[in-house]
Amino acid sequence: MKEKNVFHCGYVSIVGKPNVGKSTLLNLFLGEKLSAVTPKPQTTRHKILGILNDKNYQIIFLDTPGLILEPKYKLHELMNKTLHLALQDADLVILMIEPQEQPELKFLDYKKDTILVINKIDLVSKDSLLPLIDSVQKVYDFKEIMPISAIKKDGTGELLECIMKYLPKNPPYYPTDILTDQPEKFFVSEIIREKIFEEYGQEIPYSTTVVIEEFKEREGKKDYIRAVIYVERISQKIILIGKKGEKLKRVGERARKEIEVFLNRGVFLELWIKPKKKWKDNLGMLKELGY
Ligand code: GDP
Ligand code: MG
Repeated sequence: MKEKNVFHCGYVSIVGKPNVGKSTLLNLFLGEKLSAVTPKPQTTRHKILGILNDKNYQIIFLDTPGLILEPKYKLHELMNKTLHLALQDADLVILMIEPQEQPELKFLDYKKDTILVINKIDLVSKDSLLPLIDSVQKVYDFKEIMPISAIKKDGTGELLECIMKYLPKNPPYYPTDILTDQPEKFFVSEIIREKIFEEYGQEIPYSTTVVIEEFKEREGKKDYIRAVIYVERISQKIILIGKKGEKLKRVGERARKEIEVFLNRGVFLELWIKPKKKWKDNLGMLKELGY
């Protein structure tokens, strides 16, 4: 049993072949569409952080690309590399398989605590699971074996409790408040902030803050994101924009590319700059910003 009121926090990597339902499970846990869920295999190309916060724990999920056993392209090699990093970073590994499938032992090279999840049990009879569970127990020392259906939300609550059991004692690695509401918004503003830090000298980044004012998913179109960069003075606005607007354009382009990778979909990003005197002292505004 976990001690009460002791904070637990750790990285959990969900691995498995393409299409077994990793993103579906992650999205269910996080209650937000964080990574692309699609019937096509190999859509999740990049490691995506999803963070689940609760009073006594924080789980940082690493969504991973499926292992590609015979890499054909550079992209495949990169995907495998991302996967290996996610496994190295993990405090706990969730290996997901479908019924009828044997666990890929290559995922288990890392000697991490591993929970075997058998997903999509809605597609098979309960009886047919017993022989599978029997046989997987022989190939590896799984900490737990959990049959679930991510789509029907069957067994997923138990799985979450099980994950908590294996989280190490740690203070939260990430802020615990902002992320629960709006993980996408938070990461999007962080990406824009990061680009501002990279593009400008000392003074500017510390005088700015980024607010996502609108974030719309649009049927058949790219997502629309309007971000406002607040500065303290007009002079800072001029520096941010740069000659013929080139500086700001660069920030926008670089941020957009990274946001698209993070969201795994196309984005139309609009950046506005607004001077707001002493925003750093403006309580109402700071609150709005989540400080
Ligand atoms: P990933 O490639 O492992 O991230 O897989 P996805 O989460 O993108 O899911 C692949 C497909 O399997 C999607 O069409 C999901 O709707 C479907 N799927 C996921 N979980 C379940 C489940 O529990 N039962 C069934 N029947 N389908 C599922
Ligand atoms: Mg996926």
